[in-house]
Amino acid sequence: MGLRAIYLLGAIFLLSAVWARFFSVESGIYFSIFLLSIYVVYQSWNQYRLLKALKENDLIGHRRGLGMWRDIFSNLERKSKGWRQEILRSELEYNRFIQAVQASPNGLVMLDEEDQIEWCNNICKEHLRIDPLRDSRQPITFLLRHPDFVKYMLKANFSESVNLDFMGVNGNLMLLLQVFPYGENRKLLLSQDVTILKKNESIRQDFVANVSHELRTPLTVLNGFLETIRDLPLNELERKKYINMMSAQSSRMLTLVEELLILTRLDHSPILPKTSAVKIAELIHRIVEDGRGLSNGNHIIRASVMSKKNILGAENELLSAFGNLLTNAIRYTPEGGTIHVYWEDTQDGGVVYSVRDTGIGIAPEHISRVTERFYRVDRSRSRDTGGTGLGLAIVKHVAMRHSALLNIESTLAVGSIFSITFDKDRISKEEGKELA
Ligand code: ADP
Repeated sequence: MGLRAIYLLGAIFLLSAVWARFFSVESGIYFSIFLLSIYVVYQSWNQYRLLKALKENDLIGHRRGLGMWRDIFSNLERKSKGWRQEILRSELEYNRFIQAVQASPNGLVMLDEEDQIEWCNNICKEHLRIDPLRDSRQPITFLLRHPDFVKYMLKANFSESVNLDFMGVNGNLMLLLQVFPYGENRKLLLSQDVTILKKNESIRQDFVANVSHELRTPLTVLNGFLETIRDLPLNELERKKYINMMSAQSSRMLTLVEELLILTRLDHSPILPKTSAVKIAELIHRIVEDGRGLSNGNHIIRASVMSKKNILGAENELLSAFGNLLTNAIRYTPEGGTIHVYWEDTQDGGVVYSVRDTGIGIAPEHISRVTERFYRVDRSRSRDTGGTGLGLAIVKHVAMRHSALLNIESTLAVGSIFSITFDKDRISKEEGKELA
């Protein structure tokens, strides 16, 4: 019993004693019973209020009452406000944590002691086809049935990761999965999309294999000729013939290495600044002259320079790209065919360089691939005409560096149109001359 209650009871007895002194002892007893009843009713009423507030978890905004009840209700109200704030702060932190996990590009699945899904983030839908709501409490190996993953879970050596192929909604993802045990027998399963990484790795491997293959062929031939010269008694004429053939093979290797170096340089260079103007009419004139030399009168080669526009860019790169398209047209057009080079304005203020031939053409399924490094429609034809399979890759790169687009239209056995379209902001203010 608190001090206040003792004071109050003391006051009741004192009042009753005074009452008894002035009236009668009997009425004093009744008076004290009356006061005590008021006290007991008041206490019970407040106890009821307190129990109700606690039960309903509603501790704020109650009438405070008198004496200790004022202390009880105001203390509870203050504490309750503190708890509410704490809960709000925790909720905010929890939401932030969930948002951060949801923003992660990696899938995250929490597993319980029985390897059942407790929670997972949204990216798991794309990676593992697990729905955070639908699949809660399902065993993970029930949903993720890839044999390598099932083996991984059974082996339970979680210091390693596992690579899974043909994953994702469309089966086109390569995922790296690893389990991290935590807490009491719980596990965290992480998935990482490594499709691009693996693709780049295989492109790199293919590239090295291609270069080795391209170099091995001329080297083997060269080696054979060297052995022939060394081992066989040859007359002067035969010796010359072999040396010429050896020289052709070494030129082929040199061209290949040079083109590889050009590609590497282009790969590591940023977009070209728009500082120097390249005079296109003169450039085309040079290319066409060289082309006529290469064709040796076997083709009709024409040039129509209808635009006076010049390009802001690198002359050597444009010379190489424009020349490459003409050289290809000559190499892939049978004798007597026509090749026409155009330089003309586009409707939106740009300008386009195009080479049209009446050559062998390219089947539709190859068109999108001919700009890949070492991709050839007909390997032996390309080699016979001195091709490396890198020409169009270089052209595409040069176009990109000049913010231009390489476009290919082709019909098998009819001919091809290769064009490079430049944006108007690549055009120099200085104009050149038109040549028809
Ligand atoms: P290559 O050195 O083999 O010519 P490119 O990268 O220049 O390499 O061209 C890739 C492939 O595209 C060629 O092997 C050829 O099959 C095809 N090609 C390129 N230009 C033409 C063209 N004008 N007509 C037909 N096919 C072409």
